[in-house]
Amino acid sequence: MNKGDLLYAGKAKSVFLTDDPSRLLIEFRNDTSAFDGEKVEQLDRKGAVNNRFNAFIMQHLEREGIATHFDRLVSDCESCVKRLEMIPVECVVRNLSAGSLCRRLGVAEGQVLSPPTFEFFLKNDALHDPMINEYHAQAFGWATPAEIDVMKAQTFKVNNVLKSLFADAGMLLVDFKLEFGRFGNQVVLGDEFTPDGCRIWDAQSRKKLDKDRFRQSLGSVVESYEEVAARLGIDLEASIAS
Ligand code: ADP
Ligand code: UDP
Repeated sequence: MNKGDLLYAGKAKSVFLTDDPSRLLIEFRNDTSAFDGEKVEQLDRKGAVNNRFNAFIMQHLEREGIATHFDRLVSDCESCVKRLEMIPVECVVRNLSAGSLCRRLGVAEGQVLSPPTFEFFLKNDALHDPMINEYHAQAFGWATPAEIDVMKAQTFKVNNVLKSLFADAGMLLVDFKLEFGRFGNQVVLGDEFTPDGCRIWDAQSRKKLDKDRFRQSLGSVVESYEEVAARLGIDLEASIAS
């Protein structure tokens, strides 16, 4: 597979065409952004850590029966994925209150949510990713009712699978964001699952181990991602088959 032209450069990843029209190459960069790109920094090793982290999680989800775009690791910071027609909504599940939920509803951080909650956000940087509901998604043609059902069901399934994966390693999966896309007539999990797009706390101390360390200037951002990876048994140095 040969790397072709840049298709899209986002805030943290770059997406390239390949000589296979059904495949893209995603490069995880060291760029780290928060607050709609207001705070941006380069964090050494983050691209490589997130590339391996994402590969491990996507492969785990595939084994648990969740269709993902992940194909294979290509290099330290690059993975080959299925080319999806992205659905422009973000799916967020929360097990504990944090982040925008606390700001929006004035509730304290760290309350257990029973049942876990589900939210849709429109993927639109200019509008600061506003929260939407499934009527908006359907009425504006962002997703069909069938696609909405699949995204919700798969996001909750991912939650069940990953909540126990993290719990077994002494961590709490607080919340996370997923993006899906169309591959033929299938709805497939795309984008990434890394500490950039979820919240993970140590179960005992509730120490934050995710991108909130960057948002809140707590330091040791990539070191914390590496700690989570080590606790999950992810080998960040494993050689990549060519
Ligand atoms: P953002 O666009 O939010 O700044 P990134 O820097 O992560 O985010 O850029 C990656 C972009 O690639 C996102 O817009 C995402 O929707 C898109 N993307 C992720 N996976 C795929 C895929 N398999 N096929 C096509 N596009 C994808
Ligand atoms: N999230 C994300 N990208 C976004 C918005 C949110 O990955 O554009 C993730 C975020 O890291 C967290 C979850 O989705 O794990 C819920 O985010 P929240 O709505 O609390 O927003 P935030 O506090 O990040 O502004």
